Parts: sequence; C-alpha cells; structure tokens
Amino acid sequence: MPELPEVETVRRGLEQKLNNFIIKKVEVCRDSTVAFPKNKEEFIEGLLNSLIYKWDRRGKYLIAQLKKLENENVRFPLQKFSKNNGFLVVHLRMTGYFKFINNSAQPCKHTRIRVFDDKNNELRYIDVRSFGQMWWIKEDLSPNKIIKGLGSLGPEPFSKDFDEIYLKKVISKRTKSIKAILLDQTIVAGIGNIYADESLYSAGISPFREARTIKKNELIKLKESIVTVLKKSIGSGGTTFSDFRDLEGENGNFGLQTNVYRRTGKECRKCGNLIEREKITGRSTHWCPKCQK
Ligand SMILES: [Zn+2]
Repeated sequence: MPELPEVETVRRGLEQKLNNFIIKKVEVCRDSTVAFPKNKEEFIEGLLNSLIYKWDRRGKYLIAQLKKLENENVRFPLQKFSKNNGFLVVHLRMTGYFKFINNSAQPCKHTRIRVFDDKNNELRYIDVRSFGQMWWIKEDLSPNKIIKGLGSLGPEPFSKDFDEIYLKKVISKRTKSIKAILLDQTIVAGIGNIYADESLYSAGISPFREARTIKKNELIKLKESIVTVLKKSIGSGGTTFSDFRDLEGENGNFGLQTNVYRRTGKECRKCGNLIEREKITGRSTHWCPKCQK
C-alpha cells in the first residue's frame, strides 16, 4: 500500500507532468471509484473545464486545487481561470496508481477513471483491487467534512505539531502497542506498515511495547527516526516492495534498502541477529529482538 513517501512521489510527478492541464473530458470506467458526489454525472460535470492548478498532499490523500474556466475571451490562457472550482481528492488505497499518457491508447481492464485535456493527453487512474477513491468537492463544501478520513487525520510527520510532547500526550494512557499507534492515521498521518517497522527499528523500540511505557527520550528518537526514514524514502521515490507505480508506470526504487521490512530470517545489519516477523493487529511486523527493546 502506498504510504506517505510513495504518495508524495506521486504528488511531485503529477505537479511536474500536469502543467496547466485543463480537463476537457472525463470517463468513469468504474462507478464505485467515484466516492463523491454520489451521482457520477455530477462528478464529471464538476471537473469539466477545470484547470488543475496545484497538487497538495495530506497524509495519504492527494488533493488537487481546481480553477474554473470563467472568461474565454481573455487573451492569456491562465487568466481565463480566475475562479476556484473546489478540489479533486484522491486516495490510492492498496493498488491505485496514475499514468500520464501522451498519446492515449486503449485502456487496460483495471482502468477506473480517465481524464483528458484538449491535446488528448490522458491522466489515467488504474487500480487492480479497486479500493481507491476520488471525490470532487465543490467550492462551497469542506473536504475535511465530506471525507471523514481526511478530516480526522493527525498531524503530518514533518510538521512542528508532531513532536515528543504531542506524542507523549496522545499515548500517555494508551495500552495499545506502539506499532498500532503509528498505524493510526488519527494520531499521525501517512505512516503505514513499511515505515512503522523501519522507524521503530531505527529508534531501537520494540513494536510490541505498550505505547504508554515509552519514555520521553525514546519518543524524541522515534520522532527523529520517522522523519529521517520518510525523507530518505521520498528522496528515492518510494519503495520497491509495494505495488506502487510512479507516473511513468515504474516501480519505486528504494535503493537504500530496508533494515527489517520483508527481511524475516535475514541478519540484522547492526547486530547479526535474525530479523523476526509476527502479526500485530493483523499486520506483519518485522523487527530485531536484540536491537529493539
Ligand atoms: Zn539487531
């Protein structure tokens, strides 16, 4: 599943490729991909003649700011788009990815949404397992209210709100494992299985520890580890382990290699002990019992 670094890689790709992309045609190949508005015609109608102005990311959500074609007669193309037209929000979930296609060809059977500009460039959304969703939130509505998961997100790991004081406060009474806490999007946004395991290894904290038992100095270390691990991965375009694809249809290249994730039975890079795997709240968890206490 794409996590923060992969979604950030996609965001950067979209921003780069979709320069002044004006939506001229929208094709919904699978209705259930459109989460809002309920009526897919309304979704299509809402997006038409919109300029995709800017791509943001919040947690694992991609958020495109849209501008509306207002005055055809203005001389400069972008000045025609002076009015806001709400947001196109995307969540890739398990297997969703975008492909930017210059010369639109026949879509594969997993194509869910196709968006075209007037030069027949296509932004294609492909999703094998089809859990991914899209929302068009019009200007006078709030994305945070309509999309529950977005509205309830905890702070971004890179924001100043995410520090040991915040962490201490939210985990002080929690008996859940620290791994489960890191996966909870309402506590911190964007971390999934890979980066939870890698961050805990880097901080030397056992994923099984009861969250409330983790001390302040360990929380400082954990926060730093999360930021370092995520930044490193963004720099290398996401990990090779998920079904993640960037806009060129390429698998990510986490050339930096993971330390514990999917290294069960292999030697720990620090101590040589074997990496173990066990499930925590249904998710495979990888760790070194010697280095992580
Ligand atoms: Zn070790």
